[in-house]
Amino acid sequence: MSAAPNWTIDGVRAALRARKVSARELAGEFYARIERRNPELNAYLTLSPDRAYAQADRVDAAIARGDELPPLAGVPIAIKDVISTQGIRTTCASKILETYVPPYDATAVERLDRAGAVFLGKTNCDEFAMGGSNENSAYGPVRNPNDPDRVPGGSSGGSAAAVAAGLAVAALGTDTGGSIRQPGSFCGVPGLMPTYGRVSRYGLIAFASSLDHIGPLAKTVKDAATVLRTIAGRDAMDSTSADVPVPDYVAELDKPVRGLKLGVAKEYFGEGLDEEVRQAVEAAIDTLKGLGCEIVPVSLPHTPYAIPTYYLVATAEASSNLARYDGVRYSNRANGVKTLSEMYRRSRDEGFGAEVKRRIMLGTYALSAGYYDAYYLKAQKVRTLLTRDFEEAFRKVDAIVTPTSPTAAFRLGEKSNDPLAMYLADIYTVTADLAGIPGISVPCGETKEKLPIGLQILGKHFDEATILRVGHAFEQTQKSAR
Ligand code: GLN
Repeated sequence: MSAAPNWTIDGVRAALRARKVSARELAGEFYARIERRNPELNAYLTLSPDRAYAQADRVDAAIARGDELPPLAGVPIAIKDVISTQGIRTTCASKILETYVPPYDATAVERLDRAGAVFLGKTNCDEFAMGGSNENSAYGPVRNPNDPDRVPGGSSGGSAAAVAAGLAVAALGTDTGGSIRQPGSFCGVPGLMPTYGRVSRYGLIAFASSLDHIGPLAKTVKDAATVLRTIAGRDAMDSTSADVPVPDYVAELDKPVRGLKLGVAKEYFGEGLDEEVRQAVEAAIDTLKGLGCEIVPVSLPHTPYAIPTYYLVATAEASSNLARYDGVRYSNRANGVKTLSEMYRRSRDEGFGAEVKRRIMLGTYALSAGYYDAYYLKAQKVRTLLTRDFEEAFRKVDAIVTPTSPTAAFRLGEKSNDPLAMYLADIYTVTADLAGIPGISVPCGETKEKLPIGLQILGKHFDEATILRVGHAFEQTQKSAR
């Protein structure tokens, strides 16, 4: 296996400016690599060379004119296939949207386009982003570039694998319960979930609207900061997008971390945490201490309720969001049906996979009359308690450090027949989605089997700048340690 080239956003910029490569040649180089590696990894579901080369040609023309280059000029980017892209098929890794071609770009995509990015294609994921291993895709699993017998994590497994294998410089993923941070951790690349409302969800095909976030996976924390800066900010098309100023995340990266208070919660180091992961994360915390951060014990007492709370809220919202796939408005319709209800039933039965059906049933049950108060309403109340845990902790600390996932990447098939075991593995990531706070996973070591381990850094609402800064400072120590 040839080593993936380490193109970063700065590297692309410098090479384009020095005319060492054109944007078109660079796109071609990535497509050649995708052609070689994608048959094994299955990270991309759809390639979009027409759009990519048109974008690249625009950048090359700007370079020829001597124009100032926008921040992502010529940067090859992959987009998770739950995010709408005008003219490029968007399937949500589901049969039900197999032929769907969106007539518009998601806001995040449009902003990348304006910043000069080159869209290589759409990445594989769990169907409708429901999963933590990428095994729930209707188009086959993604393999982890570090070990093809292992999962890349999910649901943004294709985006994480593409970046890790050098099949994109950066990628957009989505995180509803960990789906950017956990695959970032499993594949060994930084993955950032912004604050809820920081990035517009317009054009993101909904899984659970109060939990869904778009964010970057990238080669470096700095690149994640650059992508976030590009896509963040209020958007009139999403009423939940926040009108909060977007800082220059890159400029903030090099501020010292000395004196920052980092919380460590015992609830994130309990039963079920793999010993090698524990050691790596504890070593990372020691490294941060060595950089002058103060380590402060904090308590997040409602953490044990996070998984049931998440799986009630997420499935309830999913059951409602997925009602729109009725065989009428989008994509495939069952053939040979006689009545309207038979068409609904058969179209949905043929179009949705097992995990999606399971969640629609769970969510419909949790929302049904008689059970709503006991399940959905109760879950919303516990969600408030979980949020208060964080608010309380953030009175004392600037950020909280935890493992991203209790284990490194597991084997394909290891958990796929046991949905509950799969759900329980989300223990460290779902809390931040429920509370709406930002989180980043940064590689912090590897197991004896050379599988990456992730350090998660959680921040205050709208304070991505601090977690990026801590992640960046930590990443620098890793580079000099090598
Ligand atoms: N693994 C979680 C789930 O299956 C998270 C998914 C996500 O963040 N999209 O729901």
